[in-house]
Amino acid sequence: MKCYNCGKELTDETNHDEHIPAKNLFNELEPNFKVNLLKVPACYKCNVKLYSKIDHLIRDVIGVLNEDEDYKKKMTAKATRSITRTKNWKERIFSIDNGKSLEVSFSYDDIKKLHIKNFKGLFYSRYGFPIPDSYEITIIAEGDEENEKAQIVNKNYREFLDYEKEWSHIGHPEVFKYKIKAMIPDEHDPDIFFDGENVENAIGFVCSMEYLNALKPLVLAQSKESLDENNVLQSSRWS
Ligand SMILES: [Zn+2]
Repeated sequence: MKCYNCGKELTDETNHDEHIPAKNLFNELEPNFKVNLLKVPACYKCNVKLYSKIDHLIRDVIGVLNEDEDYKKKMTAKATRSITRTKNWKERIFSIDNGKSLEVSFSYDDIKKLHIKNFKGLFYSRYGFPIPDSYEITIIAEGDEENEKAQIVNKNYREFLDYEKEWSHIGHPEVFKYKIKAMIPDEHDPDIFFDGENVENAIGFVCSMEYLNALKPLVLAQSKESLDENNVLQSSRWS
């Protein structure tokens, strides 16, 4: 048993199971949304120290984005409390529309870190080992709408992902669903790749996740070797 995030060997005594995605996404929802949750093995550092300060952010964003969906109302209340409890909250709130509305800012980097964490958990659960360091992980998400290059990559990889692949879900499908595919090059034509079980040869993995129909990031994990050798996937290095 290894830590899903850093790969440290674990025993029953040193394992601190991590919920993927974080339990706080489910806490304010009705019981029928909380079935079939996923836990993966984690070391103390990765479970307790690494993400605990930012773990509530995805829940907060979804709570704030909610306009009138009843089942998310308690999340909205919780998010509001969570935001106004932080030290610098007044600096994160802006008045727009001549004072008619308020806007809240979130750390985009922190939210991307949480998408990566969740991807790593899904990867571990899907393949049974932590994703090796030899893959570079990139996220395309809310906030990247203006980035044309990112949107082209997003469109192309989603097409690959959606082809003959159904959603899996954690909790109720309305709460969290995902697809994950390996990119294994064809023996005869390395520019063509397929999903499959033989993942040692994968030049990458692609994953889409949907949180409560609100946040829909795409995750690309690309082998650093393939990035150096050719530019097929280089397009993700836009920033
Ligand atoms: Zn760890």
